[in-house]
Amino acid sequence: MSRRALVLFSGGQDSATCLAWALSRYAHVETLGFDYGQRHRVELDCRARLREGLLRMQWPGQLGDDHLLTVDVLGQLGTSAMTDYVAITLQSDGLPNTFVPGRNLLFFTLAAGLAYRRGIDVLVGGMSQTDYSGYPDCRDNTLKALQVALSLGIDRALTLETPLMWRDKAATWALADELGGSALVELIRRDSHTCYLGQRDRLHPWGHGCGTCPACKLRAKGWDEFNRRTPVLHPAGSSAV
Ligand code: ZN
Repeated sequence: MSRRALVLFSGGQDSATCLAWALSRYAHVETLGFDYGQRHRVELDCRARLREGLLRMQWPGQLGDDHLLTVDVLGQLGTSAMTDYVAITLQSDGLPNTFVPGRNLLFFTLAAGLAYRRGIDVLVGGMSQTDYSGYPDCRDNTLKALQVALSLGIDRALTLETPLMWRDKAATWALADELGGSALVELIRRDSHTCYLGQRDRLHPWGHGCGTCPACKLRAKGWDEFNRRTPVLHPAGSSAV
């Protein structure tokens, strides 16, 4: 285990799980977040709490620097329900209007630039093609193509790791359990943020959120499925709380 990794770390459930995954595999792991004017900017506040929580777990010597880049230029490209206060609906092309075109392409490109400067050769992202919103920049083929383009573009062999690509949300909770047991599951449940609307005033069995936006519904559904599969480990985690 000698490689250095950079995790795209938003403060959500997926990227928090990816950070634990990277810590379990790489000698040195740094984190990168993006402020792009998202409505749920509260997720950026969750990043520090999650990092502090992970430092108390079994990987204290491996977690390196945190980086935060401002990319509010994304908001200048046009309206989306992720950056503007409009209702979440489906667009005429079938994609939800939470889709921010080019977002993950830009994020990985910036991450590759930072990785070049930091002597890092592995980028880790929480994109998934399994339980997802249909965003085309989360697809495996998109990211495999990007891996080639970025490696050529900086003349270094970069690896883009996406450990959640073929996992549904229940399997993502199960991965957290596998990596860090109930302590990691509880850290992610309480301190990660998923809700598109940025609501954190109520703690549900599956975490904080409005409970009605697509991101909250997906997270709650995955939590319930995870607990049905592992009821002995997490007896308090049923939706009856
Ligand atoms: Zn929500």
